[in-house]
Amino acid sequence: MKISNPYFIKLLVLFLVYFLTGKFGLSVNAVSGFASLIWFPTGIALASLLIFGVRLWPAIFLGAFTINFLQGATLPASLAIGMGNTLEALAGIYLLRKFGFDPAFRKLNDALLLIFMGAMLSTLISASIGIFSLYYFSGVISSSQEVINTFFAWWVGDMLSDLVITPLILAYAIRNNFKPNRFKPAKIFELFALYALTVITSLIVFGREFGIISRNMPIAYLVPPFIIWAVLSFSLRNVMNIVALISGIAIWGILNGNGPFVVGPLWQNLLILQGFIGVWTAVALILASIIAERRELEERKDDFISLASHELKTPVTSLKLYAQLLQKDSNKPKSRRSQINLFPKFNTQIDKLDLLVSDLLDISKINLNRLEFRKENFDLNELVKETVKIIKPELKGHQVQISGRIKNDVFADRFRIGQVITNLLTNAAKYSPDAKQIRVTLKDVKNFVSVSVKDHGMGINLDQQKKIFERFYRVRDNIESTFPGLGIGLYVSAVIVKKHNGDITVVSTPGKGSTFSFTLPKKSGKDL
Ligand code: ADP
Repeated sequence: MKISNPYFIKLLVLFLVYFLTGKFGLSVNAVSGFASLIWFPTGIALASLLIFGVRLWPAIFLGAFTINFLQGATLPASLAIGMGNTLEALAGIYLLRKFGFDPAFRKLNDALLLIFMGAMLSTLISASIGIFSLYYFSGVISSSQEVINTFFAWWVGDMLSDLVITPLILAYAIRNNFKPNRFKPAKIFELFALYALTVITSLIVFGREFGIISRNMPIAYLVPPFIIWAVLSFSLRNVMNIVALISGIAIWGILNGNGPFVVGPLWQNLLILQGFIGVWTAVALILASIIAERRELEERKDDFISLASHELKTPVTSLKLYAQLLQKDSNKPKSRRSQINLFPKFNTQIDKLDLLVSDLLDISKINLNRLEFRKENFDLNELVKETVKIIKPELKGHQVQISGRIKNDVFADRFRIGQVITNLLTNAAKYSPDAKQIRVTLKDVKNFVSVSVKDHGMGINLDQQKKIFERFYRVRDNIESTFPGLGIGLYVSAVIVKKHNGDITVVSTPGKGSTFSFTLPKKSGKDL
């Protein structure tokens, strides 16, 4: 492998950063010589694997092994700790990915996943393996009290690292949707005030001058409002900067014996600080992600309202035009033929309006939890054929091939399932203007029946695939205006399918095409 190989360089950089920050952590303080409460490597490892991929795991293994070996752990203990730390990061990534973690923290789910799966759960692995190997292979800890103390220090140190360091790195590495009014002087002044007041207050609480006064006084509560201020007004990057700034000053204060958390031995003081920082960082991440979620929905809703009004206006304008034509020609007896010619056009526009209003009604019914289903037994094969026939004019010359067959009837709302099929077919035609083939496949899969619609169109990238079933979501780029739509069809379809205890999914390759599939439970009249 060449030294200039990008993978090798990343591996080397991660190893060095891991090693140096680890060394720093152990030099500041370490319970039983090995468990540091200031342990940056865990958060660095999780963030790096999230950003650059799990292929970088050897850097973590080598980093953890070397640090511990040089610290005096025996060879088997160092190997075991290296493995524990690597497994911790890999388990963290596995859990986060499994539950759909988005490193941009756009949803409450993302904050909760990092807190519970990343920070609290995955770190148990490294702490347990670490303590086990120190106890059995190195003999550096012997009493049960030492085991408990070392375990807690190890766990809390790793937990804090995932809570603070990971989002700090991610906030710089991942583009977030939030665009504050950066260039407004008032906002810049506010940002400056936030940083200045945070530093001043932290110095008062944890610093040398006032730190001695503040000992034994609970004045730490003066600091969290600045974190909340950052959350309410600025991006996640600033929030994490503020958390890092406060943590840095607090650690410096504690190392010098100052501040309200100095109550006993160093490791205990750091543990109290970590609890404080951990809780407030968790609160900040939760708040920030809720705000980001709300903001995105608001933006989408605004876009939706403007799109919906536009889509409603077009048919209304056409109808008005036809009405004027009729009125103008009404006195001319010879124009009867041209008047009759107008009627299909009237109908087309009225159908468009009808469709739009039904879509809007569906959304409001879903919001009010009033979408009702009239279930019956029917043949899904027939419904697919019938739907293809009805919507043929809307498919813009696309050919639909149907293959496969479902053996039994399904028990579902025929009209609503027809709506789902219509939506998938019209999307397949709409988003594949240059390909003319659409394939519908029907099959039985264990206890479910499955219908999939495959096109050879523009496809959808992985990030967007996660979102297209959400309310008002439309893929945003310059081609958006070419394809009319409100971004509610797939959302309504997903609600319909889920309410039938089925599932709807997409597999897609940008530039190659998409396959949307939905499943329904096989006919079982009673439990539905
Ligand atoms: P719309 O009214 O915008 O079509 P949908 O909810 O039906 O709303 O779809 C949401 C988004 O998903 C669309 O804006 C489009 O970008 C994308 N999409 C849906 N179906 C396809 C497809 N077959 N191929 C590519 N993109 C699709």
